[in-house]
Amino acid sequence: MAVEIELKAHVKDSEALRLLLLGKAQYLCSFEKEDTYYFPFVNSDIPKSGVRLRSESKTFADGAEKKAAYATYKTKEVRGGIEINDEKEFEICSNHSTVTVFDEFLKMLGLKPGYSKRKKGWAFSKEGINAELLELEKLGWFLEMEIVLNDIDDQEKMDITIREAKKKLMDFLSELGIDKDAIESRYYSEMLNEKGIAMSETNYKRPTWDEYFMEVCEAISKRATCDRGRSGCVIAKGNQLLVTGYVGAPAGLPHCDDAGHQFKKMLHEDGSVTTHCVRTVHAEQNAICQAAKRGIPIEGATLYCRMTPCRTCAMLIINCGIERVVCQRRYHDAGDSEAMFQLAGIKLEYVYNETQQYVNQ
Ligand SMILES: [Zn+2]
Ligand SMILES: [Zn+2]
Repeated sequence: MAVEIELKAHVKDSEALRLLLLGKAQYLCSFEKEDTYYFPFVNSDIPKSGVRLRSESKTFADGAEKKAAYATYKTKEVRGGIEINDEKEFEICSNHSTVTVFDEFLKMLGLKPGYSKRKKGWAFSKEGINAELLELEKLGWFLEMEIVLNDIDDQEKMDITIREAKKKLMDFLSELGIDKDAIESRYYSEMLNEKGIAMSETNYKRPTWDEYFMEVCEAISKRATCDRGRSGCVIAKGNQLLVTGYVGAPAGLPHCDDAGHQFKKMLHEDGSVTTHCVRTVHAEQNAICQAAKRGIPIEGATLYCRMTPCRTCAMLIINCGIERVVCQRRYHDAGDSEAMFQLAGIKLEYVYNETQQYVNQ
């Protein structure tokens, strides 16, 4: 594995530094890079590590061009002016559609794009030092320098090698007439964040109240104990959560996950027969029970749930005085409940205009 010793510094006069580098180092290429970072979650605190997807194009001194794309995962970062990174990286096909597919793939895995940054500049090399003079969108000009070391098992030898590499970087920095004070130890993401233009200007979107309660509903559903439909329910009013419920057997009675389902067949007018598990109290019913138990009025509230409530739940919802029902998706046999809600004047909304798919419906 490779270890990177990195340093970056602010640059005042980029043109003067470019000319100086041309004289003191070997010119490699000009480049443009676009990085997007993907994280397991997105909030105002920017996580320190994530997967970086980079698209870059380089134009070499002889006019040759190279386009490439890389996926990178940083495993270790040590702070303090000079960074020591363990990077795991592989190249992916650089054509636009592959990068797009890879972006979708990362999102499929549950990662979310946190922020993007674009930089362009020139790359140089000098005695094992890679130096890039670059302009970072929204942040200005920087000099980035790095030395890549091969990891060795002997910790003591490794420490010495790292110390020597750091000194080499500092020496080259002073040779270029850049003051130590110009060294920037913050991550670009932190600098962007401090300017208030990281997540908020790129991909972060504050959830609406409906999205917020639906997400809580999703978390609650994980406690459900019947695998024929692990659903949850939230009842809220005035943007405040009042009560919650999930599918499960009455308190103290055996759960489907332990004792198996308790099936009952149901004969319909058209002669068809469907099978239902009757061991459980539905999520909506449990939320209503919680309100009754704690004496919390739910009149005029909004109820959030996974699917169109069943006939029984719909009748209870109507009589509780709930005014609005928000479901993730439509239940395949939702007609009865939808008709009742309409007659009762209850607003029924679906987040996704589609029918929930599940086994044995
Ligand atoms: Zn069950
Ligand atoms: Zn129900």
